[in-house]
Amino acid sequence: MSFEKIGINSNIFSALKTAGFISPTPVQEATIPQALSGKDLIVSAQTGSGKTAAFMLPVLQMLSQKPKSNNINPQVLVLTPTRELALQITKATAAYGINMPWLRIATIVGGMPYRNQIKALSKRVDILVATPGRLIDQMRSNKVSLANIQTLVLDEADRMLDMGFIEDIETIVKNTPKDRQTMLFSATIDESIARLAKKMMNNPQHIALTSSKQKHDNITQKLFYADNNEHKVKLLNHVLNESSLDQAIIFTSTKKGADKLAECLSENGFAVAALHGDMNQRQRTRTISQLQKKQIRVLVATDIAARGIDINGISHAVNFDLPMQAEDYVHRIGRTGRAGRNGSALSLVTNEEKHKIRRIEKYIGQTISTEIIEGLEPKISRTSHDNSNKKTNTEILLIEMKLRLEITHLENFLLQAKQKKK
Ligand code: AMP
Repeated sequence: MSFEKIGINSNIFSALKTAGFISPTPVQEATIPQALSGKDLIVSAQTGSGKTAAFMLPVLQMLSQKPKSNNINPQVLVLTPTRELALQITKATAAYGINMPWLRIATIVGGMPYRNQIKALSKRVDILVATPGRLIDQMRSNKVSLANIQTLVLDEADRMLDMGFIEDIETIVKNTPKDRQTMLFSATIDESIARLAKKMMNNPQHIALTSSKQKHDNITQKLFYADNNEHKVKLLNHVLNESSLDQAIIFTSTKKGADKLAECLSENGFAVAALHGDMNQRQRTRTISQLQKKQIRVLVATDIAARGIDINGISHAVNFDLPMQAEDYVHRIGRTGRAGRNGSALSLVTNEEKHKIRRIEKYIGQTISTEIIEGLEPKISRTSHDNSNKKTNTEILLIEMKLRLEITHLENFLLQAKQKKK
């Protein structure tokens, strides 16, 4: 399938060629024709699937076909959970719309000075990309009106709800015209998303994809057992010295943990930086730019700060701490294997974190294989006092892997039996 076949005009198509896009990704192929027909859409798409172009290309095409009016208020609003994602969407939109010199995009996000944003809003804006909190601020001080919005996009809606933006989103939506088109993108579609969609969408069409990209088939997932954090650091040092490693993102569960680990890795000689919510926007932007320029090889980050990072050089995503939510695991590993490349996702797991791995495996529907690094085997303590019956660590791990496989088989069997009964 080609971009032209799914309805993209030659003006935008030539910009895509410049960006190196040859053919649409599955989510683009499924979404673009429906979006161009003006339908409301609920799309379940992971980060890294090409979802930005899936909503932005139809938006650009629709804008380019409309006669220009004197109304300075935005016609398109894209709501995103984080500043990083908003800046990334703005950058991608500017690239896709490179042949539309009249196009004006404004980015309204928290943590950045109001002055420039107010200035941008005082001129005509075609597309507004915003995080909910700051947009509400600007609406309350009458710096922007949403009365002219024709298309509303909610990107990473599940994350916006997780971050507590529900009331802000509802206020924003109430201020847009009822006859607008609404597109909602989310990695997971659960009850709360369905409720939100019901309130604000008109007979939406559901698009769900399970392409290999969606399942992260291009990312090799492995787990390493560790006795404690000290052991994790040793495993990490080993991984970071692998020759296949280009750049890596390491995830910790706390901001303090991120700083501490970055300091430790820096002492071990790695070009490393931390990225988390306690840093101001300027520091964060500088760190991401250093990562892009490969001045930094290893980034130690917390979940929210790393959300939306799209850097092709990231070959490895490492979970130093496992995430609380299984879906965060999917978001984390999606930082690697970008733009069709292969990636490695490694999780360092202590005995206490085993239950999280089980939850993640259930969520992703696959078993993650356990690996051992020679010389860095875990000394998993077993409470057997019978030394004659003592098994080696490798044997224990093998038994564990077998048991886990059997559990997965049993779960599948039960699921099938349930479905048959229905
Ligand atoms: P996204 O899911 O929108 O964050 O996109 C993930 C990555 O895929 C970005 O680096 C995009 O530039 C890239 N991408 C999106 N669509 C295509 C395409 N059709 N062909 C090649 N790369 C793409």
